[in-house]
Amino acid sequence: MKILLATNNKHKVSEFSRIFERYSDKIGDVTLLTLKDIEFTDEIIENGSTFEENSLIKAEAGARLGYICIADDSGLSVEALGGAPGVYSARYAGEGHNDAENNKKLLKELEKTGDTDRKASFVCCISCAFPDGEHFTVRGECHGVIAKSLCGEGGFGYDPLFFVPSMNKTFAEMTQDEKNLISHRGVASEKFIRSFLEYAKERLK
Ligand code: IMP
Repeated sequence: MKILLATNNKHKVSEFSRIFERYSDKIGDVTLLTLKDIEFTDEIIENGSTFEENSLIKAEAGARLGYICIADDSGLSVEALGGAPGVYSARYAGEGHNDAENNKKLLKELEKTGDTDRKASFVCCISCAFPDGEHFTVRGECHGVIAKSLCGEGGFGYDPLFFVPSMNKTFAEMTQDEKNLISHRGVASEKFIRSFLEYAKERLK
């Protein structure tokens, strides 16, 4: 079965390949295609106001081309900042800025709030859309607090600031396996595969 992943991010491709490999006895062999593989060069405008909306916008854009299409959208939501950076997580410090600048801005914005509430959640939504217009979306969350300074060398993005009390570590201090077990993406992936298997059973007989 061919499935389009609405991304050109190699990390996401290998993550989804691993998931489908694990379930190949139930789904059969899956060939994952990226937007590059199908020579899709148009920009998909992610103008949704939620992670759900944005992942679905991307998945539906691929399904309109005739593919079963999967897309995800994720980011950090900080309570004291009214959910920011949210869907703007990648470009919190402005277009073209890097992870270090996003982290710096996050610490500064939290300081301005008086620093009493540092609760935050990472969120990941995964959508799957079919060429006939059917679709589903799942959501995974991981709850933690924003540390006062960067801690740990691993991971990417806001990982050095995201402290998980139950593990007594930031995401950046965890191994990949530790992070996958509890992360927003890990939780969403598990939900995704369960929903996908349900759909596959009914629709792809
Ligand atoms: P994307 O939707 O997966 O591309 O994620 C958007 C942005 O959210 C990334 O550029 C990161 O800034 C942030 N983000 C998402 N997931 C993680 C994570 O697991 N760790 C750190 N930052 C993340």
